[in-house]
Amino acid sequence: MMRLALTFHEEFGCSGEPMLRERIIPSFEALTPIIHQNRIPVFKPSVTPEIIRLVQQVHTPQYLDEVIGTGFYENALLSVSSVVTGAELLMSGYQSVFAYTGCAGHHAGQTRFWGFCYLNDVAVTINHMRQKGLKRFLVLDIDPHFGDGTREFFQYDKDVIHINFHEGNQSILDSFYSNYDYALNPGWDEEFIQVLSGALKPEYEFDMMIVIFGHDSHHQDYGGFCLWDPTYALLTKLIKDYAAGRPLLWVLSGGSDVAVARTVIPEVVRVLVED
Ligand SMILES: [Zn+2]
Repeated sequence: MMRLALTFHEEFGCSGEPMLRERIIPSFEALTPIIHQNRIPVFKPSVTPEIIRLVQQVHTPQYLDEVIGTGFYENALLSVSSVVTGAELLMSGYQSVFAYTGCAGHHAGQTRFWGFCYLNDVAVTINHMRQKGLKRFLVLDIDPHFGDGTREFFQYDKDVIHINFHEGNQSILDSFYSNYDYALNPGWDEEFIQVLSGALKPEYEFDMMIVIFGHDSHHQDYGGFCLWDPTYALLTKLIKDYAAGRPLLWVLSGGSDVAVARTVIPEVVRVLVED
């Protein structure tokens, strides 16, 4: 089995969401030694009629008109393509994929979008993977902001286990609809790792695990959690061990600090690729 692939496009660092794009090229450059040492294949996503068709299955024409009006439609499509390509690579035999994006997705819902998100990359991908025969998904959102868009799509869908870490005060665990919101305030390293190990229950069944990864969880970045560098290797190991060989799609979400991205993204990839 092939261990790990990356999906990446330099456009993410050029025409991506301004708050998110400065980190893209520097973090990819920081990854280069790991990519070479481990011969990690890097796939370049593209916007195809198929990708547009998949997006239209999930978002309404009116919604898409609003996204077009922002000027980020093309980059958001390319970001969706990156995540969809990642899922297809998993279907073709890769154990895990790290998917770069230029726009985030988890605040993109059925009626509105905000917070550097335009199209819900993960919702499009799940819809697509279902057409390919996959049934159950586990979405682990460890970006510190509440994944409200993703929740809107899957709140009544028992076959999408949505584990949603957020900065807040109230944890609501709904096992009927498989929606699990873990509030962390402020989300220090030990607390984060402890809650994460408890949240990943052995009894959950799924055909693909999708991690919505925002490094705005870092104490130097703009989100609410207060994580420090060493925790990123730990959380990746924990998630990788939990996935235990099941397809694991790691999707880049929030985060803008260049130094943080240059440190934590290589850490994640290093752990994903190691034996
Ligand atoms: Zn965030």
